[in-house]
Amino acid sequence: AKVPLQRIDAYRWRIPQSYQPEMRVPGIVYADDVLIEQIRQDNSLQQVANVATLPGIVGYSLAMPDIHWGYGFPVGGVAATHVDDGVISPGGIGFDINCGVRLLATDLRYQEVKGKADRLADELFQHLPSGVGGKGMRSLSEKELREVMVRGAAWAVEQGYGFPEDLEVTEEGGCLAGANPEAVSTTAIQRGVNQLGSLGAGNHFCEVQVVDYIYDEEAARALGLYYKDQVVTTIHCGSRGFGHQIAEDYIRVAETKQKDFGFRLVDRQLACLPLRSDLGKSYLGAMACGANFAWANRQLLMHGVRQAFSRVFGRQARPAEMPLVYDVCHNIAKIEEYRIDGELQRVCVHRKGATRAFPAGHPAVPEKYRAVGQPVLIPGDMGRYSFVLVGAPGSMEQSFGTTCHGAGRQRSRTAAKKAISSKDLMAQLEAKGIAVRVHSKGLLAEEAPLAYKDAEQVVRVVHNAGLARLVVRLRPIIVVKG
Ligand code: 5GP
Ligand code: MN
Ligand code: MN
Repeated sequence: AKVPLQRIDAYRWRIPQSYQPEMRVPGIVYADDVLIEQIRQDNSLQQVANVATLPGIVGYSLAMPDIHWGYGFPVGGVAATHVDDGVISPGGIGFDINCGVRLLATDLRYQEVKGKADRLADELFQHLPSGVGGKGMRSLSEKELREVMVRGAAWAVEQGYGFPEDLEVTEEGGCLAGANPEAVSTTAIQRGVNQLGSLGAGNHFCEVQVVDYIYDEEAARALGLYYKDQVVTTIHCGSRGFGHQIAEDYIRVAETKQKDFGFRLVDRQLACLPLRSDLGKSYLGAMACGANFAWANRQLLMHGVRQAFSRVFGRQARPAEMPLVYDVCHNIAKIEEYRIDGELQRVCVHRKGATRAFPAGHPAVPEKYRAVGQPVLIPGDMGRYSFVLVGAPGSMEQSFGTTCHGAGRQRSRTAAKKAISSKDLMAQLEAKGIAVRVHSKGLLAEEAPLAYKDAEQVVRVVHNAGLARLVVRLRPIIVVKG
């Protein structure tokens, strides 16, 4: 059946609750006329309706304009469940727990980097471990991994990978509370011990970019983005095999318990655990371990980036020259409070391929950004552009403090590979002056710009809907892919 959509305004669509009897709330989809047609091409709208059936869901089942098909939840899906009678669905966080993005600024201009781009690309490629199942920068004892699980990025800083200032501009300070290593399987631990400080493969990357356009001078300045052609670097990756194993473990156990909990879900991939149950609490504790691993991972990788710049440009590898702008996660569940139906309610916000976007004045926004809002980092694709936004007040009113996380996939990996070869793509990028280094060459085409929606169109929607505000557009000059 075709999922019914009622237009609310130019950027919002409703899936009425009457569509399916099991729906407990309506769905809301953020998209313009062009994006909504792209979204209709896969089953993601049905997934938005499916999520609306989750026990304890409040408000709406939300979809951001970068939504596409995912495991159970769509990627780009947001759902809040009440802490008293609600559930947590591991598929609503995703397999890459705390996949996220961090943006590092530099005091260099494009003109200074241009002639040395190939050397910088080589340095980055050599020193940032990548590839499927590859070993990371740092091997850990089980005891050290436990520290990482509990302390996240702070552990990395203490070990010399970065500086305390970095933690102030990391979501949650780089450490989600409630981590419980006892809830993590030995298989996950075995996968984690040698993967810290690695990019992985496919969609994960390290990209050197330049500020290409400034939409909001004042907000840009507050974020340390001062002028066109300023050089910055984006890192996108998550918790590697460690987080993946945690997700697998809990999805499997949740599937076997649905009957015991009395759930009859419309899609088995939505398998979920009551937040108040022992298993629900175990998953939250294990998820926090995965999230903290990811923050430590990005902290190590950023250290590698600072060192690469330092070797090529004689810069000090420290925040004065290369400040971390911000680090956000886009695959996570958080316990937060919102006014829903006139009442302050404690809910578990599932953000799967969705980014927190707290507005100016929110206490969780670092003090130096408090007047402009939390930085929101939106990768687009390797050939066109990426964006920096800040959270806007509408996110608190409409979307549980959330906005989109990327451009969102438009073509399957198989379709992308059919449309362009990795070799041709490489040549196209080089012709545009983008230096490319890729570990798994065969996988590059799966991530081609044509595989993704137009990121500019996506961010326009969230900007116009009042969820986040455009600050700068970035253009790639070096792409390092796993
Ligand atoms: P995901 O976390 O869903 O795998 O990816 C998030 C977003 O990253 C995608 O929706 C896409 O817009 C973006 N993306 C994927 N590959 C690249 C890349 O190589 N460079 C940039 N700038 N963005 C990318
Ligand atoms: Mn991601
Ligand atoms: Mn990921």
